[in-house]
Amino acid sequence: MSMFSTVQPAPSDPILGLTERFIADPRPDKVNLGVGVYQDENGSLPLLRCVDAAEQTLAGQHRPKGYLPIDGLPDYTREVKELVFGPGSPAVMDDRVVTAQALGGTGALRIGADFLHQLSPEATVLVSTPSWENHRALFTRAGFTVRGYRYYDPEAHGIDVDGMLADLAAAPAGTIVVLHACCHNPTGYDLTADQWDRVIDVVVAGGLVPFIDMAYQGFSQGLEEDAAVIRAFAARTDSFLCSSSFSKSFGLYGERVGALSIVCADADEAARVRSQVKVVIRTNYSSPSTHGALLVSTVLGDPQLRLAWTQELAGMRDRIKQMRGALVQGLAGAGVPDDMSFITDQVGMFSYSGLDARQMARLREEFGVYGTDAGRICVAALNPSNVDRVARSIAAVV
Ligand code: PMP
Repeated sequence: MSMFSTVQPAPSDPILGLTERFIADPRPDKVNLGVGVYQDENGSLPLLRCVDAAEQTLAGQHRPKGYLPIDGLPDYTREVKELVFGPGSPAVMDDRVVTAQALGGTGALRIGADFLHQLSPEATVLVSTPSWENHRALFTRAGFTVRGYRYYDPEAHGIDVDGMLADLAAAPAGTIVVLHACCHNPTGYDLTADQWDRVIDVVVAGGLVPFIDMAYQGFSQGLEEDAAVIRAFAARTDSFLCSSSFSKSFGLYGERVGALSIVCADADEAARVRSQVKVVIRTNYSSPSTHGALLVSTVLGDPQLRLAWTQELAGMRDRIKQMRGALVQGLAGAGVPDDMSFITDQVGMFSYSGLDARQMARLREEFGVYGTDAGRICVAALNPSNVDRVARSIAAVV
């Protein structure tokens, strides 16, 4: 008998499973609104011009392929610190922020989870209800008990802020709270600055450990605005974690470029934390890969390319906003009587459409429009050629 004969098949990833069904669908006018990938107005995944230019520059250089340091390319982690914490950040200036290059935002979350678990194995992790599916899976796999805090209020098409605050206030000190910095996935609803202040009050007063996940910096209002919550936490507490990613903002999905940053009380503590984070990395994959980090640091380190990047990022952000508006208009035009303007209140790549699993199944089966069973659609995959068809399909199932 094979030693693997008792291995049970794992359930397929819900989003990737959806993509497989989409690919197998023969209808030419099918639309994939499942996976969170930005597409341009032609429905293609763009290669950012600034990335293309950096790639040309690097291709012309003679670069032996040595190992990177365990915590990554120093130019890259320096640029990450500035983007995430802002130029002149007191915490960064005091040398008490540890930033390690990571394999995307997911890798950053996992390094952070492993580091925290070693420190505090009995802690509970709280994630928003709902949250990106992998939050729960990843922290569970790292050994934590994971529970939810209230977040989405379907009746109000918004956030249950009082519920969220109550759940955080009830959590014991040391509880790890995963927060979305901006562009909440899957709902598209972000807290206002005032609501964030109240959340920070509760988190700080309760001695909770914030782990802020920033996978979409620049996709809501702008690079600085979207990181405001990081700066607000940095002003109020001297211990929290932040995972960040360039998958979306640079269109570098497959290059796996992200970072974990840990804010500490002082430089000495930061040095000790860094040494432990390096052990986590060393025993997982030894050191990160070079190419993506070089691309990002080349773009950010060159004033012209950096400007080009911020413009291309603004272009992606604006296109998504236009598509939200076009979808709301299209739904009204297709005869949906309900006020669907909440879609333009939401930000980022996703919209919680309010459709239930049965309606989402009809969208797929009858119209070839693919979103998740929870009703999440990726608005970044809408374009002028498909938005009306999507609107008419939704109108037919509501
Ligand atoms: N966090 C959230 C909330 C996300 O939506 C994603 C990507 N879908 C990630 C983290 C991970 O991103 P990456 O591809 O950089 O690992």
